[in-house]
Amino acid sequence: MREIRSYGSVGERQGNEPLYPDTNYMENRIFTLILFATVLLFSSCDQQSKEQAIHSTPDYALVIHGGAGNLQSEDIPEEMKRAYKASLKKALEAGEQVLKNDGTAMNAVIAAIVIMENDSLFNSAKGAVLTEDGEVELDASLMRGEDANAGAVAGVKHVKNPILAAKEVMLNSKHVMLAGQGADYFAALKGLDTVPQEYFITSHRLRQHQKAIKGTVGAAAIDKKGRLAAGTSTGGMSMKKWGRIGDSPVIGAGTYADNRTCAVSGTGHGEYFIRNAVAFDIHARMLYKKQNLKSAAKTVIHDILSNKYKADGGIIGVDTAGNIVMEHNTSAMFRAFIKSSGEKDVLIF
Ligand code: ASP
Repeated sequence: MREIRSYGSVGERQGNEPLYPDTNYMENRIFTLILFATVLLFSSCDQQSKEQAIHSTPDYALVIHGGAGNLQSEDIPEEMKRAYKASLKKALEAGEQVLKNDGTAMNAVIAAIVIMENDSLFNSAKGAVLTEDGEVELDASLMRGEDANAGAVAGVKHVKNPILAAKEVMLNSKHVMLAGQGADYFAALKGLDTVPQEYFITSHRLRQHQKAIKGTVGAAAIDKKGRLAAGTSTGGMSMKKWGRIGDSPVIGAGTYADNRTCAVSGTGHGEYFIRNAVAFDIHARMLYKKQNLKSAAKTVIHDILSNKYKADGGIIGVDTAGNIVMEHNTSAMFRAFIKSSGEKDVLIF
C-alpha cells in the first residue's frame, strides 16, 4: 500500500521538497486534466455542430411570394388571411416536394407557381386582374442560373399556365420571349392547356380585393446541386392599357437567376422595376460590388425604388448558400420560405 500523503499547492511547497514528488499523483492529475479538456472539446464540438445545423448551408431552399401591397392587417378578413396562408403553404409544399426528391430548382419554381396560378386568390392566371377593356392579359418568365437560359411570355390570353409556356419558350424555342397571339399559339402547339377568357375572370368581390393587393406570384429556389432558378407570373397591373407589359416577363427586371449569385423574383410597380433593372441590379451588386443578398435587396427596394422613385414593391430571393431574402417597401407582402434545415415561415405583414 502506498502511503497517502497530502500535498499542498505548488506555492505551499516546503524547503527542498521536490516539485512533483509523487509521480502517481501527477499521472492522476494529468489524466484528470486530459479528461476535462476532452469533455470540454466534445461539448464545444457538439455545440458547434448544433449551431452549424441551424446556420450551415441547407441542401435546398425555396422562397415564394404572392404579391405585395399597402394593406393593413384589418383590411383583410381573418378567413381571407387563413386562405392566403394555406395557399402559400400548398405552393411551398409542391415546390419542396421537387427539391426533396432531387429535382431541379427550375422544376421546384414551376411547381410552386403552377399551384398559385391555378388559385384564384392571386393575381396570376386564374383570378388575374383585368385590363381597361375588362380582359385578362398574362405575363410570366422563368430563368435558371447555370446557363442563363430564360423564357417568357407576355400578354397571353388563353394558355392556362403561363409559367409552363415560359418554360416551353426557354427549352423548346430559339427565343427568350413570345408575346400575344403568337405566344398563345406556340403554347397550344406545345400541347399546353388553353382556356377561354372566362376561366381567368373571377367574381367582382374577389377582383376588387386583388386590386388592392396588386398581387403577382413568384418563386426562387436552390436545389441540392446548388443550381438556382427563379420565376414570376402575373396578370399585371389592374386597369392596365391593352398591350401593356410589366416587369414580370422581362428578364433582369422581374426575374433573374445566376448560379454565382442569386435567384430573385419581384412584385410591385412594374414600370419602375423595368426602368431600374431591379432583378439584375441585385445580382450585379452581389457579383461586382460583393454586396450580400440582403444588403443588395435592401439597397434596391428601399434606397432606389422607395426613396428615389416612390415606387412600391418587393422581392424574394435565395443566394448560393441558401440564404433567403424577402424584402418589401409595402406594408404587406404575401410570402413564405422553406429550407431543408427545417426552417420555414408563411407571412403577410
Ligand atoms: N409587377 C407586376 C406588373 O407590374 C404587378 C405586381 O407585381 O403587382 O405587372
